[in-house]
Amino acid sequence: MIPNFDKNKKTFFTQTLLHWHATHHRPLPWKGEKNPYLIWLSEIILQQTRVEQGLPYFEKFKEKYPTVTALAGAPEDEVMKMWEGLGYYSRARHMHAAAKFITHELGGIFPKTYDGIRALKGVGGYTAAAIASFAYNLPHAVVDGNVYRVLSRYFGMEEPVDTTAGKKLFARLAQALLDESQPGRYNQAIMDFGASQCTPAAPECGACPLRERCLAFEKGMVNSLPVKSKKRERKTRFFNYLVIRQAGSVFIKKRKEKDIWRNLYDFPLLETERLPEKREDLTGSEAWQQTFGETAWRLARISQPFKQELTHRKIMALFWEIEAGASFEPPQNAWLKVRQDGLSEFAFPRVIGLYFRQKFLPLEIF
Ligand code: SF4
Repeated sequence: MIPNFDKNKKTFFTQTLLHWHATHHRPLPWKGEKNPYLIWLSEIILQQTRVEQGLPYFEKFKEKYPTVTALAGAPEDEVMKMWEGLGYYSRARHMHAAAKFITHELGGIFPKTYDGIRALKGVGGYTAAAIASFAYNLPHAVVDGNVYRVLSRYFGMEEPVDTTAGKKLFARLAQALLDESQPGRYNQAIMDFGASQCTPAAPECGACPLRERCLAFEKGMVNSLPVKSKKRERKTRFFNYLVIRQAGSVFIKKRKEKDIWRNLYDFPLLETERLPEKREDLTGSEAWQQTFGETAWRLARISQPFKQELTHRKIMALFWEIEAGASFEPPQNAWLKVRQDGLSEFAFPRVIGLYFRQKFLPLEIF
């Protein structure tokens, strides 16, 4: 049973939303797109990314890989480099894997059913519903943060949106509200409404066409909905990057381990429990000893701390700029020695990009 739901309220909601959308939709390059590959590309890019930030990435991916087969045939490092700066790199890895699956297992034909789309790597219920409704007009309602917000406010629902029961309830309500004769248009309308009218911090209730029946507005609950049951605790990790220079080259490595930023490149890393307070905290450590052994090194500079916020983690990174002697050998085969002017060929996490930028010239980092 969905609270505060009746046929009149549904009809008013659905029709008002579609009417609003006729004059308020935001023209974006993927709007009205029927090619499932391009819709998928835009949806993956826009997961956890603002439209303004994602737009240039969509354009450059579309140009470089106009078909799913073209994306499948690209080297992984190239795809990661194209994705650089967008964050949440597992999206790029999964997208690339799914493109290969479509190309090699499905004969290059994008799946045409909700279940087929949902089975692709990296595609959740929201993305599958978006692709199915936009490309094939299939009746699947999208449910994301925008939809939770609009529905919880309009129907005055205080059920937490981050519990299993709450998610099921909102999914049922979203599906019940869907205009099955035009699911693509309806889905686009509710997404746009949440993104530009019923926004998280400053909803435009004064000019809202749903206001007369909006329970959150009536009860003065706009700012307390939607409800979340738990606040996320963000753990901080402390990274000490060793920027080891040797005769105009620098050592980097590919992140292979099952951890954040897999398949991106970074510098040799010593992770600590907290930021070192003095240089000896690190240079006197066993890990440092294992890295340099008896070879000569000179610590040229320690950077200021750089910060990167992730969904579940905060990263604090220091960059230890070190001149290594000619006899220095990397302790791990996986390290790559690259010319400093070749660093821009590799995809690095954002926190390293911040460090490069502070140096002004990424190609000459010393
Ligand atoms: S009245 Fe305010 S809270 Fe209610 S739907 Fe409109 S913008 Fe959202």
